Order: sequence, then structure tokens, then C-alpha cells
Amino acid sequence: MTQNYRITLLPGDGIGPEIINVAVDVLKVVGKQFDLQFEFQQALMGGAAIDATGEPLPADTLEICRNSDAILLAAVGGYKWDSLPSHLRPEAGLLGLRAGLGLFANLRPAKIIPQLIDASTLKKEVVEGVDIMVVRELTGGIYFGKPKGIFETETGEKRGVNTMVYSESEIERIGRVAFEAARKRGGKLCSVDKSNVLEVSQLWRDRITSLSQEYPDVELSHMYVDAAAMQLVRAPKQFDTIVTGNLFGDILSDAAAMLTGSIGMLPSASLGASGPGVFEPVHGSAPDIAGQDKANPLAQVLSAAMMLRYGLNQAAAADKIENAVSQVLESCDRTGDIMSPGMNLLGCHSMGKALIQALESGTRD
Ligand code: NAD
Repeated sequence: MTQNYRITLLPGDGIGPEIINVAVDVLKVVGKQFDLQFEFQQALMGGAAIDATGEPLPADTLEICRNSDAILLAAVGGYKWDSLPSHLRPEAGLLGLRAGLGLFANLRPAKIIPQLIDASTLKKEVVEGVDIMVVRELTGGIYFGKPKGIFETETGEKRGVNTMVYSESEIERIGRVAFEAARKRGGKLCSVDKSNVLEVSQLWRDRITSLSQEYPDVELSHMYVDAAAMQLVRAPKQFDTIVTGNLFGDILSDAAAMLTGSIGMLPSASLGASGPGVFEPVHGSAPDIAGQDKANPLAQVLSAAMMLRYGLNQAAAADKIENAVSQVLESCDRTGDIMSPGMNLLGCHSMGKALIQALESGTRD
């Protein structure tokens, strides 16, 4: 029986429209192969939304997102909007979307793709076999804590203030997502905090430790964030699943991303307790290469695969997309960001065509 899904597309800015087109083409082909009917609806977000409506996340967009089964987002932001006040910048749309949909968990895999191992700046023996999942808390912590702002003191001097705050329930719900993820992976969870300095981290460590009693099959360890940053580049293979707060997760997931060599290859999923999840590449809108057919669409395509796997429970279709990506890389097709001598240089559009060919060849079901 045909399964119907309503998918909201948020192409955003920069390379967003180019890469999301590739992902949609891929989904259409896989949809036919697996009897999935996608109804795509596009909405404005980020700079494109600011230009059209004055707001980075129009109420219409949030409503359309709420009424869908999953959301495929590209990226937002660009030089044009950099000087706007922070609540009107494209990135404010991302924060609004996460808060509006209650997306408190961000899952970012950083897995070495064997065909691209030479793209890593680290030695082959250090990164070979790396397969890390960073589970980042997304709607709490210092990005949302109050008070926040730039205030003037009695002497007229300005003070910038942000507040890192986590409640027990926020820690426990992200902890559960992370323990469950670790259970499905290598069975190891490392919780990252700064409990030697921050009280909020002491509570974090305490709650995660208590929660571990419910997951005796998962081996829990703790690490300070500064040590974790060092260990990620020194010996990344020691990590399986990492759980951490919003700010530390933002930084560590980018560091983990770069172990793989190209930010153009990494997908992510943001999930809530119920309702649609948002699936998007880790990279930004790459305004430096926008509109030049140079973007690597693979992170966006792999985000569509994550959408199928985690958002729509269609693991076989997700496998098919991931296999097509491997097949294309195996045949030495590369975009500029992952190019190396002897490989075939493709633009974004041609990479999409190569993927469709791989999907239709059916050699890797
Ligand atoms: P970026 O990820 O956009 O770009 C960093 C570098 O990686 C650039 O050289 C870019 O050309 C390259 N790159 C990124 N994605 C690529 C791809 N798919 N293919 C080939 N090359 C790729 O980060 P940035 O330059 O720091 O930020 C640019 C804009 O994106 C800013 O406005 C920033 O705020 C925004 N941003 C948005 C998101 C998001 O929407 N989730 C995330 C990060 C940054």
C-alpha cells in the first residue's frame, strides 16, 4: 500500500535551493521504488523570508511545518543580513523553528566514509573507523537562558549577559534520547560537561548518572568539555555516542564533523517528543559558492535519508539512498570540496544526476 507523506521544504539561503533540489529529485526516485508518495510543500525561512516578509520565521512557515510529517531544511544566512539585529537575523529563524516545534534533541553523526578518508586533515590511522553520534540538547542552555541581553550599568558601561540554565527534566529527556541512541549503536555514552566550574554542569552530571541506572547495558563515562575537545582530535575512536548541552554540543559537533574532512557530507536530525522532526545538513549556506553549481549536495541528500530513517520509519529507503551515495563516491565522482587528484570533478547538478543513476541502476539494494 502506498504511504503518503507531507514534507515541508525550507530551502533557505545561499546554496540551499541548489542542494534541496537534488534531495527532492532523489526522494522522488526512491519514493517510486518504495511505494512512498511525497507531497512537497515549500515555505520561506531565513534571509529569503526576511526579504519577503521582514521576519526570519513567518508564522505561516511554522504553521506549514507543524502540519507536515517531516521538514527538510537546507541552510540559512548570508552576508546580506549580517548587520541586522540578532532577533531579525536568519539564524533567529532556526532558533524559532526549534523552539516552535519543541525540537530538543539534535543528532549529528560523524562517520568516516572510507572513500573520503584522505579528505581528513588527521592521520589515516587516527580517523579510520571513526563513527560518532553527537547528541546535543537544542532548546535549553545558554542560547535560551534568561536574563540575556546587553545592559547598561549605573556607570554607563555596557554588560553582555547570557545565562546557562538546565532543569532536571530537560537533562533527563535529552539523556534518554542519548542512552537510547547509544543502545542502538556501540553501547557507550560519554556525557560532556564542565562540572569542575559550572553548577549547571554539576546538576547535568548528577542527573545523567542517575539515569544510567535505567540503562545498565550502556557504558556511561563523563568528560569535561575541554578534555573532550582534545580527545576528539587526539583519539576520536574512543567515542561512540556523546551527549552534551547546547553550547558545548554546537562546538563539539563541528569539531567531530571536521574529523571526516568535509562539512559538505554531514547530515543531522532534530527531534522532539512528538510531531515532525527537522532534517538538515550540518553546514551553513556557503554564500561564497552560492549560485555557482559548486555545492556538495550529499549532506542534504543524507539528511533526506535521516528523515526517512528517524522521521518516517522507512529504513530500507534510507539505506538505498546511503548506498547510492557510497556508489557515487566509489565511482570517483566528487564535488570541489571533496576533490582529490585523479577523481571526476562534478558540479552540484551533475552530482544529483549521478545519484539518480546510481539509484536507478539498482545494483546496491
Ligand atoms: P558554511 O558551512 O556555510 O561554510 C563554511 C565553508 O564550507 C565555506 O567555505 C563553504 O563554501 C564550505 N561549504 C559549506 N557547505 C558546503 C557544501 N555543501 N559544499 C561545498 N562547500 C561547502 O559556514 P559559514 O561560512 O560560517 O556560514 C555561512 C552562513 O551560513 C552564515 O550566515 C552562517 O550564519 C550560516 N550558517 C547557517 C547554518 C544553518 O542554517 N544551519 C549553519 C551554520 C552557518
